Amino acid sequence: MHVTVIGAGAFGTWTARWLLRRGASVTLVDQYGAGNALSSSGGESRATRSAHGPDRFYPTWQRRSLEEWLELDPRLFLRTGVLWLARREDGFEAHSVDTLDALGIPAERLTVEDLRARWPQIASDGLTFALHEPEAGVLLARRAVSAAADAVAAEGGEVRIGVAAVTDEGVLIDGRPVEADAVVVAAGPWLPKLLGPVADLEIAVPQQEIVFFATPPGDGRFDADRMPTWVDYDAGFYGMPSIEGRGFKVAPDWPGPMVDPDRHERRLTDERVDAARAYLRERFPALAGQPVSEGRVCQYEVTADTHFVIDRHPGLPSTWIVGGGSGHGFKHGPAVGEYASALVLGDDPGDLAPPDDRFALRPRSAGIGMRTGGDRLSR
Ligand SMILES: Cc1cc2nc3c(=O)[nH]c(=O)nc-3n(C[C@H](O)[C@H](O)[C@H](O)COP(=O)(O)OP(=O)(O)OC[C@H]3O[C@@H](n4cnc5c(N)ncnc54)[C@H](O)[C@@H]3O)c2cc1C
Repeated sequence: MHVTVIGAGAFGTWTARWLLRRGASVTLVDQYGAGNALSSSGGESRATRSAHGPDRFYPTWQRRSLEEWLELDPRLFLRTGVLWLARREDGFEAHSVDTLDALGIPAERLTVEDLRARWPQIASDGLTFALHEPEAGVLLARRAVSAAADAVAAEGGEVRIGVAAVTDEGVLIDGRPVEADAVVVAAGPWLPKLLGPVADLEIAVPQQEIVFFATPPGDGRFDADRMPTWVDYDAGFYGMPSIEGRGFKVAPDWPGPMVDPDRHERRLTDERVDAARAYLRERFPALAGQPVSEGRVCQYEVTADTHFVIDRHPGLPSTWIVGGGSGHGFKHGPAVGEYASALVLGDDPGDLAPPDDRFALRPRSAGIGMRTGGDRLSR
Protein backbone atom coordinates (compact mmCIF):
# COMPACT_ATOMS: atom_id res chain seq x y z
CA MET A 1 0.00 0.00 0.00
CA HIS A 2 1.37 3.42 -0.93
CA VAL A 3 0.28 6.52 0.98
CA THR A 4 1.04 10.14 0.16
CA VAL A 5 1.09 12.46 3.17
CA ILE A 6 0.71 16.18 2.54
CA GLY A 7 2.23 18.42 5.21
CA ALA A 8 5.45 17.84 7.14
CA GLY A 9 4.36 19.37 10.44
CA ALA A 10 4.02 17.48 13.72
CA PHE A 11 0.93 15.64 12.48
CA GLY A 12 2.13 14.74 8.97
CA THR A 13 5.67 13.64 9.87
CA TRP A 14 4.44 11.31 12.60
CA THR A 15 1.65 9.92 10.44
CA ALA A 16 4.28 9.17 7.81
CA ARG A 17 6.54 7.48 10.37
CA TRP A 18 3.75 5.31 11.67
CA LEU A 19 2.58 4.36 8.18
CA LEU A 20 6.12 3.15 7.47
CA ARG A 21 6.22 1.22 10.75
CA ARG A 22 2.96 -0.47 9.81
CA GLY A 23 4.42 -1.59 6.49
CA ALA A 24 3.14 1.01 3.99
CA SER A 25 5.38 2.85 1.56
CA VAL A 26 5.16 6.61 2.01
CA THR A 27 5.77 9.88 0.21
CA LEU A 28 5.80 12.94 2.48
CA VAL A 29 5.31 16.21 0.60
CA ASP A 30 5.52 19.77 1.91
CA GLN A 31 5.42 23.03 0.01
CA TYR A 32 8.13 24.70 2.15
CA GLY A 33 9.75 21.79 4.02
CA ALA A 34 9.52 20.42 7.57
CA GLY A 35 9.62 22.98 10.39
CA ASN A 36 9.23 25.97 8.06
CA ALA A 37 8.63 29.36 9.69
CA LEU A 38 5.07 29.71 8.38
CA SER A 39 3.84 26.39 9.74
CA SER A 40 2.26 25.93 13.16
CA SER A 41 5.02 23.49 14.09
CA GLY A 42 7.73 25.96 13.08
CA GLY A 43 8.24 27.76 16.42
CA GLU A 44 11.27 27.27 18.67
CA SER A 45 9.39 25.71 21.55
CA ARG A 46 6.14 23.94 22.38
CA ALA A 47 5.02 22.86 25.83
CA THR A 48 4.21 19.26 26.60
CA ARG A 49 2.07 18.76 29.70
CA SER A 50 -0.34 16.15 30.94
CA ALA A 51 -2.88 18.38 32.73
CA HIS A 52 -6.10 18.72 30.79
CA GLY A 53 -8.73 19.41 33.43
CA PRO A 54 -11.06 16.46 33.94
CA ASP A 55 -10.18 14.85 30.61
CA ARG A 56 -8.41 11.50 31.05
CA PHE A 57 -7.68 10.81 27.42
CA TYR A 58 -5.26 13.58 26.37
CA PRO A 59 -2.91 12.88 29.33
CA THR A 60 -2.44 9.30 28.13
CA TRP A 61 -1.73 10.47 24.57
CA GLN A 62 0.71 13.05 25.89
CA ARG A 63 2.68 10.48 27.92
CA ARG A 64 2.75 8.04 25.03
CA SER A 65 3.86 10.78 22.65
CA LEU A 66 6.61 12.05 24.92
CA GLU A 67 8.19 8.59 24.90
CA GLU A 68 8.32 8.77 21.11
CA TRP A 69 9.81 12.26 21.04
CA LEU A 70 12.45 11.09 23.52
CA GLU A 71 13.21 8.03 21.47
CA LEU A 72 13.59 10.21 18.38
CA ASP A 73 16.19 12.30 20.22
CA PRO A 74 16.25 13.00 23.97
CA ARG A 75 17.87 16.38 23.33
CA LEU A 76 14.60 17.61 21.79
CA PHE A 77 12.99 17.73 25.25
CA LEU A 78 13.81 20.04 28.18
CA ARG A 79 12.30 18.85 31.42
CA THR A 80 11.51 22.30 32.81
CA GLY A 81 8.34 21.17 34.57
CA VAL A 82 5.06 22.97 33.90
CA LEU A 83 3.59 25.22 36.57
CA TRP A 84 -0.11 26.09 36.50
CA LEU A 85 -0.98 29.27 38.40
CA ALA A 86 -4.50 28.80 39.79
CA ARG A 87 -6.70 31.79 40.53
CA ARG A 88 -9.64 29.61 41.67
CA GLU A 89 -10.04 26.63 43.97
CA ASP A 90 -12.42 24.85 41.61
CA GLY A 91 -11.09 25.55 38.12
CA PHE A 92 -9.10 23.73 35.48
CA GLU A 93 -6.10 23.26 37.75
CA ALA A 94 -8.06 21.61 40.58
CA HIS A 95 -9.70 19.19 38.13
CA SER A 96 -6.29 18.44 36.66
CA VAL A 97 -4.76 17.55 40.04
CA ASP A 98 -7.54 15.03 40.68
CA THR A 99 -7.27 13.52 37.20
CA LEU A 100 -3.49 13.24 37.22
CA ASP A 101 -3.57 11.67 40.69
CA ALA A 102 -6.12 9.13 39.47
CA LEU A 103 -3.94 8.32 36.45
CA GLY A 104 -0.77 8.05 38.54
CA ILE A 105 0.93 10.93 36.69
CA PRO A 106 3.19 12.99 38.97
CA ALA A 107 1.56 16.28 39.96
CA GLU A 108 2.27 18.45 42.99
CA ARG A 109 -0.28 20.78 44.53
CA LEU A 110 1.60 23.76 45.98
CA THR A 111 0.31 26.35 48.41
CA VAL A 112 1.02 29.99 47.65
CA GLU A 113 3.66 29.86 50.41
CA ASP A 114 5.31 26.83 48.76
CA LEU A 115 5.29 28.69 45.47
CA ARG A 116 6.95 31.78 46.95
CA ALA A 117 9.61 29.69 48.67
CA ARG A 118 10.42 27.71 45.53
CA TRP A 119 10.24 30.41 42.86
CA PRO A 120 10.51 33.81 44.58
CA GLN A 121 10.89 35.45 41.16
CA ILE A 122 7.16 34.76 40.53
CA ALA A 123 4.76 37.23 42.21
CA SER A 124 1.83 35.34 43.70
CA ASP A 125 -0.82 38.07 43.92
CA GLY A 126 -4.30 36.78 43.09
CA LEU A 127 -3.29 33.10 43.20
CA THR A 128 -4.98 30.45 45.32
CA PHE A 129 -2.57 27.58 44.66
CA ALA A 130 -0.31 26.13 41.96
CA LEU A 131 -0.10 22.79 40.18
CA HIS A 132 3.39 21.61 39.25
CA GLU A 133 3.95 18.84 36.73
CA PRO A 134 7.58 17.87 37.33
CA GLU A 135 7.84 15.52 34.34
CA ALA A 136 6.46 17.98 31.80
CA GLY A 137 8.44 20.52 29.82
CA VAL A 138 9.38 21.87 26.43
CA LEU A 139 9.87 20.30 23.02
CA LEU A 140 12.26 22.14 20.71
CA ALA A 141 9.57 22.19 18.07
CA ARG A 142 11.21 23.26 14.83
CA ARG A 143 14.16 20.96 15.41
CA ALA A 144 11.90 18.14 16.55
CA VAL A 145 9.74 18.21 13.46
CA SER A 146 12.80 18.37 11.19
CA ALA A 147 14.22 15.36 13.03
CA ALA A 148 10.94 13.49 12.52
CA ALA A 149 11.04 14.25 8.78
CA ASP A 150 14.67 13.09 8.61
CA ALA A 151 13.59 9.88 10.35
CA VAL A 152 10.92 9.34 7.68
CA ALA A 153 13.63 9.53 5.00
CA ALA A 154 16.03 7.31 6.99
CA GLU A 155 13.29 4.71 7.48
CA GLY A 156 12.62 4.42 3.76
CA GLY A 157 10.06 7.13 3.01
CA GLU A 158 10.38 9.65 0.22
CA VAL A 159 10.42 13.22 1.55
CA ARG A 160 10.14 16.03 -0.94
CA ILE A 161 9.03 19.56 -1.68
CA GLY A 162 5.80 19.88 -3.65
CA VAL A 163 2.58 21.87 -3.71
CA ALA A 164 -0.69 20.00 -3.33
CA ALA A 165 -4.10 21.05 -4.60
CA VAL A 166 -7.39 19.32 -3.88
CA THR A 167 -10.15 19.22 -6.51
CA ASP A 168 -13.51 17.43 -6.66
CA GLU A 169 -11.76 14.63 -8.57
CA GLY A 170 -8.88 14.13 -6.18
CA VAL A 171 -5.51 15.38 -5.02
CA LEU A 172 -2.85 16.84 -7.29
CA ILE A 173 0.78 17.51 -6.51
CA ASP A 174 2.51 20.10 -8.66
CA GLY A 175 -0.46 19.82 -11.02
CA ARG A 176 -0.30 16.04 -11.47
CA PRO A 177 -2.78 13.55 -9.97
CA VAL A 178 -1.37 11.67 -7.00
CA GLU A 179 -0.78 8.01 -7.62
CA ALA A 180 -1.36 6.44 -4.22
CA ASP A 181 -3.75 4.05 -2.52
CA ALA A 182 -4.50 6.68 0.10
CA VAL A 183 -3.75 10.35 0.72
CA VAL A 184 -3.45 12.00 4.14
CA VAL A 185 -3.95 15.76 4.13
CA ALA A 186 -2.17 17.09 7.24
CA ALA A 187 -1.90 20.71 6.14
CA GLY A 188 -2.41 22.42 9.53
CA PRO A 189 -3.69 25.99 9.15
CA TRP A 190 -3.79 25.57 5.36
CA LEU A 191 -6.58 22.97 5.60
CA PRO A 192 -9.48 25.41 5.04
CA LYS A 193 -7.93 26.98 1.94
CA LEU A 194 -6.64 23.68 0.57
CA LEU A 195 -9.85 21.68 1.03
CA GLY A 196 -12.48 24.39 0.52
CA PRO A 197 -15.89 23.67 2.03
CA VAL A 198 -16.15 20.19 3.56
CA ALA A 199 -19.24 19.15 5.52
CA ASP A 200 -18.69 19.54 9.27
CA LEU A 201 -15.11 20.75 8.87
CA GLU A 202 -14.83 24.17 10.43
CA ILE A 203 -11.36 25.42 11.25
CA ALA A 204 -10.59 29.03 12.17
CA VAL A 205 -7.08 30.41 11.59
CA PRO A 206 -6.43 33.29 13.99
CA GLN A 207 -3.10 35.08 14.29
CA GLN A 208 -1.18 34.44 17.53
CA GLU A 209 1.81 36.35 18.81
CA ILE A 210 4.67 35.37 21.09
CA VAL A 211 6.92 37.96 22.69
CA PHE A 212 10.39 37.17 24.03
CA PHE A 213 11.95 39.47 26.61
CA ALA A 214 15.69 39.66 27.25
CA THR A 215 16.60 38.59 30.78
CA PRO A 216 18.71 41.04 32.87
CA PRO A 217 22.48 40.68 32.48
CA GLY A 218 23.93 38.10 34.84
CA ASP A 219 20.48 37.07 36.10
CA GLY A 220 19.85 33.34 35.67
CA ARG A 221 16.55 33.23 37.56
CA PHE A 222 14.49 33.06 34.36
CA ASP A 223 16.56 30.42 32.57
CA ALA A 224 15.32 26.90 31.91
CA ASP A 225 17.30 25.31 34.77
CA ARG A 226 15.68 27.61 37.37
CA MET A 227 12.29 28.53 35.99
CA PRO A 228 9.47 26.22 34.86
CA THR A 229 7.21 26.61 31.86
CA TRP A 230 4.11 28.33 33.25
CA VAL A 231 0.44 28.81 32.46
CA ASP A 232 -1.84 31.44 33.99
CA TYR A 233 -4.92 30.00 32.39
CA ASP A 234 -7.58 32.34 33.77
CA ALA A 235 -5.47 35.39 32.86
CA GLY A 236 -4.97 34.18 29.27
CA PHE A 237 -1.16 34.07 29.41
CA TYR A 238 1.43 31.32 29.29
CA GLY A 239 5.14 31.24 28.68
CA MET A 240 8.49 29.61 29.04
CA PRO A 241 11.86 30.26 30.61
CA SER A 242 14.68 31.59 28.49
CA ILE A 243 16.06 28.69 26.44
CA GLU A 244 19.52 28.96 24.89
CA GLY A 245 19.56 32.65 25.84
CA ARG A 246 16.74 33.56 23.43
CA GLY A 247 14.64 35.37 26.06
CA PHE A 248 11.71 34.79 28.40
CA LYS A 249 8.66 33.77 26.37
CA VAL A 250 5.28 35.41 27.02
CA ALA A 251 2.21 34.49 24.99
CA PRO A 252 -0.93 36.63 25.24
CA ASP A 253 -3.34 33.83 24.37
CA TRP A 254 -6.41 35.24 22.71
CA PRO A 255 -7.24 35.30 19.00
CA GLY A 256 -6.04 37.96 16.60
CA PRO A 257 -7.50 38.53 13.14
CA MET A 258 -8.10 35.56 10.85
CA VAL A 259 -5.14 35.11 8.49
CA ASP A 260 -3.91 33.31 5.39
CA PRO A 261 -0.74 31.48 6.48
CA ASP A 262 0.94 32.09 3.10
CA ARG A 263 0.26 35.80 3.02
CA HIS A 264 0.18 37.51 6.37
CA GLU A 265 2.97 39.85 7.41
CA ARG A 266 4.44 38.43 10.59
CA ARG A 267 5.05 41.55 12.66
CA LEU A 268 4.37 41.86 16.37
CA THR A 269 1.65 44.35 17.22
CA ASP A 270 2.08 47.02 19.88
CA GLU A 271 -1.13 45.77 21.50
CA ARG A 272 0.36 42.32 22.24
CA VAL A 273 3.77 43.62 23.30
CA ASP A 274 2.12 46.08 25.70
CA ALA A 275 -0.20 43.37 27.05
CA ALA A 276 2.76 41.03 27.60
CA ARG A 277 4.71 43.73 29.41
CA ALA A 278 1.74 44.67 31.60
CA TYR A 279 1.46 41.00 32.54
CA LEU A 280 5.17 40.85 33.41
CA ARG A 281 4.70 43.82 35.71
CA GLU A 282 2.08 41.83 37.61
CA ARG A 283 3.62 38.34 37.66
CA PHE A 284 7.36 38.62 36.85
CA PRO A 285 8.16 42.17 37.98
CA ALA A 286 11.93 41.83 37.57
CA LEU A 287 11.37 41.52 33.81
CA ALA A 288 8.88 44.34 33.26
CA GLY A 289 11.52 46.85 32.23
CA GLN A 290 13.40 44.45 29.95
CA PRO A 291 13.49 44.95 26.18
CA VAL A 292 11.85 42.65 23.65
CA SER A 293 14.56 40.34 22.32
CA GLU A 294 12.53 38.56 19.62
CA GLY A 295 8.99 37.98 18.47
CA ARG A 296 7.12 35.31 16.61
CA VAL A 297 3.85 35.65 14.78
CA CYS A 298 2.09 32.39 14.08
CA GLN A 299 -1.45 31.11 13.73
CA TYR A 300 -3.61 28.45 15.29
CA GLU A 301 -5.92 26.13 13.36
CA VAL A 302 -8.83 25.89 15.74
CA THR A 303 -11.89 23.68 15.72
CA ALA A 304 -14.97 24.86 17.58
CA ASP A 305 -14.44 22.44 20.47
CA THR A 306 -10.62 22.32 20.20
CA HIS A 307 -10.57 18.58 19.52
CA PHE A 308 -8.46 17.50 16.54
CA VAL A 309 -9.91 16.20 13.26
CA ILE A 310 -8.75 12.72 12.25
CA ASP A 311 -11.24 11.32 9.78
CA ARG A 312 -11.94 10.29 6.22
CA HIS A 313 -12.77 13.05 3.72
CA PRO A 314 -16.52 12.72 3.13
CA GLY A 315 -16.30 13.48 -0.60
CA LEU A 316 -13.01 11.91 -1.71
CA PRO A 317 -12.45 8.19 -1.39
CA SER A 318 -9.19 7.18 0.28
CA THR A 319 -8.41 10.71 1.39
CA TRP A 320 -8.00 11.46 5.10
CA ILE A 321 -7.97 14.74 6.99
CA VAL A 322 -5.60 15.08 9.95
CA GLY A 323 -5.43 18.49 11.62
CA GLY A 324 -7.16 21.04 13.82
CA GLY A 325 -4.36 21.11 16.40
CA SER A 326 -6.20 23.98 18.15
CA GLY A 327 -3.16 25.34 19.97
CA HIS A 328 -2.35 22.09 21.78
CA GLY A 329 -1.52 19.62 19.03
CA PHE A 330 2.26 19.62 18.82
CA LYS A 331 2.98 17.45 21.83
CA HIS A 332 0.49 14.84 20.58
CA GLY A 333 2.08 14.45 17.13
CA PRO A 334 3.30 10.87 17.69
CA ALA A 335 -0.05 9.62 19.03
CA VAL A 336 -1.96 11.45 16.30
CA GLY A 337 0.25 9.73 13.75
CA GLU A 338 -0.10 6.31 15.35
CA TYR A 339 -3.89 6.61 15.51
CA ALA A 340 -4.28 8.13 12.02
CA SER A 341 -2.05 5.48 10.44
CA ALA A 342 -4.21 2.72 11.94
CA LEU A 343 -7.37 4.26 10.49
CA VAL A 344 -5.82 4.77 7.06
CA LEU A 345 -4.57 1.18 6.87
CA GLY A 346 -7.72 -0.32 8.39
CA ASP A 347 -5.87 -1.58 11.48
CA ASP A 348 -7.39 -1.71 14.94
CA PRO A 349 -6.21 1.39 16.85
CA GLY A 350 -6.67 -0.49 20.14
CA ASP A 351 -6.29 1.62 23.27
CA LEU A 352 -5.23 4.62 21.19
CA ALA A 353 -8.84 5.22 20.24
CA PRO A 354 -10.58 7.99 22.15
CA PRO A 355 -13.54 7.05 24.35
CA ASP A 356 -15.85 9.19 22.19
CA ASP A 357 -16.14 10.60 18.67
CA ARG A 358 -14.05 13.67 19.46
CA PHE A 359 -11.86 13.38 16.34
CA ALA A 360 -14.65 12.60 13.88
CA LEU A 361 -16.08 15.04 11.37
CA ARG A 362 -19.33 15.99 13.06
CA PRO A 363 -21.16 19.16 14.00
CA ARG A 364 -19.18 20.75 16.84
CA SER A 365 -20.69 23.28 19.16
CA ALA A 366 -18.70 26.47 19.53
CA GLY A 367 -16.88 25.90 22.81
CA ILE A 368 -13.81 27.69 24.00
CA GLY A 369 -12.04 27.19 20.69
CA MET A 370 -13.71 29.88 18.67
CA ARG A 371 -13.87 32.27 21.58
CA THR A 372 -10.28 32.14 22.66
CA GLY A 373 -8.50 31.19 19.48
CA GLY A 374 -7.08 28.01 20.90
CA ASP A 375 -7.11 25.50 23.66
CA ARG A 376 -6.37 27.82 26.54
CA LEU A 377 -6.26 24.76 28.70
CA SER A 378 -3.16 24.34 26.85
CA ARG A 379 0.37 24.56 25.81
C1 LIG B 1 2.05 30.23 18.75
C2 LIG B 1 1.70 28.79 18.94
C3 LIG B 1 1.96 28.19 20.15
C4 LIG B 1 1.60 26.84 20.34
N1 LIG B 1 1.92 26.24 21.53
C5 LIG B 1 1.75 24.90 21.67
C6 LIG B 1 2.26 24.24 22.80
O1 LIG B 1 2.87 24.85 23.66
N2 LIG B 1 2.07 22.89 22.90
C7 LIG B 1 1.45 22.18 21.93
O2 LIG B 1 1.31 20.96 22.08
N3 LIG B 1 0.97 22.79 20.80
C8 LIG B 1 1.11 24.12 20.66
N4 LIG B 1 0.68 24.77 19.53
C9 LIG B 1 -0.07 24.00 18.52
C10 LIG B 1 0.83 23.18 17.63
O3 LIG B 1 1.98 23.91 17.28
C11 LIG B 1 0.02 22.76 16.39
O4 LIG B 1 -1.18 22.12 16.82
C12 LIG B 1 0.80 21.77 15.54
O5 LIG B 1 2.11 22.23 15.30
C13 LIG B 1 0.06 21.55 14.23
O6 LIG B 1 0.83 20.71 13.38
P1 LIG B 1 0.31 20.34 11.94
O7 LIG B 1 1.23 19.31 11.42
O8 LIG B 1 -1.15 20.05 11.96
O9 LIG B 1 0.43 21.72 11.10
P2 LIG B 1 1.72 22.50 10.54
O10 LIG B 1 2.86 22.39 11.46
O11 LIG B 1 1.28 23.87 10.15
O12 LIG B 1 2.12 21.70 9.24
C14 LIG B 1 1.35 21.77 8.06
C15 LIG B 1 2.29 21.68 6.88
O13 LIG B 1 1.51 21.53 5.70
C16 LIG B 1 2.21 22.15 4.66
N5 LIG B 1 1.26 22.46 3.59
C17 LIG B 1 0.15 23.22 3.70
N6 LIG B 1 -0.48 23.32 2.52
C18 LIG B 1 0.24 22.60 1.63
C19 LIG B 1 0.11 22.33 0.25
N7 LIG B 1 -0.89 22.83 -0.50
N8 LIG B 1 1.04 21.53 -0.36
C20 LIG B 1 2.07 21.03 0.36
N9 LIG B 1 2.24 21.27 1.68
C21 LIG B 1 1.34 22.04 2.31
C22 LIG B 1 2.80 23.39 5.29
O14 LIG B 1 3.90 23.90 4.56
C23 LIG B 1 3.16 22.91 6.69
O15 LIG B 1 4.53 22.57 6.79
C24 LIG B 1 0.99 26.11 19.30
C25 LIG B 1 0.74 26.74 18.08
C26 LIG B 1 1.10 28.06 17.89
C27 LIG B 1 0.85 28.70 16.55
